[in-house]
Amino acid sequence: MLLSSYLQGKWVSGEGVKTPLVDPVKGVEIASVCGESLDINAAMEYSRRMGGPALREMTFAARGRLLGAIAARLSASRDVWYRTALANSGSTRADAAMDIEGTIQTLRYYASLGEKLGETKLLIEPGEDRLTRDPAFQAVHFWTPVSGVAVHINAFNFPGWGMWGKAAVALLSGVPVITKPAVSTSMLAWEMLRDVVGLLPPGAISLLMGSGQGLLDSITRDDVISFTGSAQTARKLRAHPRVQEMNPRFNVEADSLNASVLGPDVVANESIFNVYVEEMSREILLKAGQKCTTARRLIVPRSIASSVADSISAKLGSTVMGNPRNPGVGLGPLVTKQQQAVVLESIEKLCTVATVVHKGNASPVDADANIASFVPAHLLRCDASDAGIVHELEAFGPCSTVIPYDNPEQSIALARLGGGSLVCSLFSNDSEWALRAGLQLGNLHGRVLLVDDAVAASHTDHSIVMPQCVHGGPGRAGGGEELGGTRGMRIYHQRTAVQTSADRIAKIRESALEFSL
Ligand code: NAP
Repeated sequence: MLLSSYLQGKWVSGEGVKTPLVDPVKGVEIASVCGESLDINAAMEYSRRMGGPALREMTFAARGRLLGAIAARLSASRDVWYRTALANSGSTRADAAMDIEGTIQTLRYYASLGEKLGETKLLIEPGEDRLTRDPAFQAVHFWTPVSGVAVHINAFNFPGWGMWGKAAVALLSGVPVITKPAVSTSMLAWEMLRDVVGLLPPGAISLLMGSGQGLLDSITRDDVISFTGSAQTARKLRAHPRVQEMNPRFNVEADSLNASVLGPDVVANESIFNVYVEEMSREILLKAGQKCTTARRLIVPRSIASSVADSISAKLGSTVMGNPRNPGVGLGPLVTKQQQAVVLESIEKLCTVATVVHKGNASPVDADANIASFVPAHLLRCDASDAGIVHELEAFGPCSTVIPYDNPEQSIALARLGGGSLVCSLFSNDSEWALRAGLQLGNLHGRVLLVDDAVAASHTDHSIVMPQCVHGGPGRAGGGEELGGTRGMRIYHQRTAVQTSADRIAKIRESALEFSL
């Protein structure tokens, strides 16, 4: 089956070389895509001409209702999405839930945000600034959506949530979307869009199946690019001549060497220790470690480093790797043979400075190791003081490294070596250390999670991205910022200062909502 693209309000197939989508357990082709010969320029024009005006004509509440309708439709067909995630990504039920339930919850959240913003199209900041001696001449800042198209380029690990998390924010902002999923796992995005596309005005959302070659050739100054993927691809896209020339808004979510630090107060086998061990084991296993937020560096007090490593190893050792169709399986495959090769090579590189504490059984249950793309769970330990690579190389699979520290200052210094990450978590009941560390790590992270006994049972996990909180990180992580409630809408809006009379400002306020993004 050739999965077509949805451009200019029609399902169209490219003509040329087809790229197969493969079941990563069975190694068989399940579908193919071809992005060649498609008129992407015309599709972008159509979105700007049809989708943009239709969305901007609607109030925030009306756009929110569209998102709510999409969420309801997707929610009703859950079983289909779980089957597709299994077939195309090799996802266990828990792996798929992160993507599918994350999709539905994020859409519902932005639907409710639309309702809160209400029956208005215009946002105006509270308060005026007086500019001269004349009190009648004042300034106020207002926000309007950009008139271009949002080009969303997504990574392979979240074909559902990656697409809808970005699209929800753009659509609520009144900006049409052209979304390009990563080819290898794109079937879920394709199926979901087929199910809901009729709910949206023409041109509000388009889907490009295929490599995306030529996608940026038609970018204009009013467009927004939002990219999730590797730092290498991000560099390439940023350097694209058309992007350089047009200078569109460009959000990047890239690699991340997320740290999770166990506090200096923690002793082996106490409650917070057990919470940490439980969570870090899950970090390695869930989605076979293919999460941008996975805790890659486990920074722990040297005095209990062996206890941490042994306890996590025991959890990993009791998990079965294999075909997710078998209900006893807790670790599925990576999405492709290519990813398997890259991750095994990365682990080998990490082992030039780290030792292997735990390596799972290499023989998958109910699958052929030669055909499928499994990587056994790995726990490494690095005691070297000059272990640069552990803080720089992201093995995008089921692998994390225990890094012991000797004093509280070193715990923070080691976490900072990630050079900018999406998330850092701190597990400790010592509030003095946790708050100091949390604040010192803030400028290198988009999100900091502080876990103590009080929230041990209720917190939302190191990896989970909540739509209320910003997602993104500085430096190595790309410098982007997504979601975060209305904060994520900022990139789709222009803030404008209007300098005029107080009377006119009062008139503008009549139809606007007092709000700042
Ligand atoms: P990737 O190879 O960089 O690809 C990302 C996306 O870019 C894919 O859709 C890819 O399409 C597309 N692409 C590549 N070249 C392009 C071009 N010339 N024009 C237009 N699109 C192009 O990354 P990946 O392997 O999918 O994902 C793994 C990486 O993503 C990891 O490094 C991970 O850390 C990062 N990631 C980050 C986040 C985050 O939020 N920070 C989230 C998830 C993943 P094809 O599929 O056709 O190659």
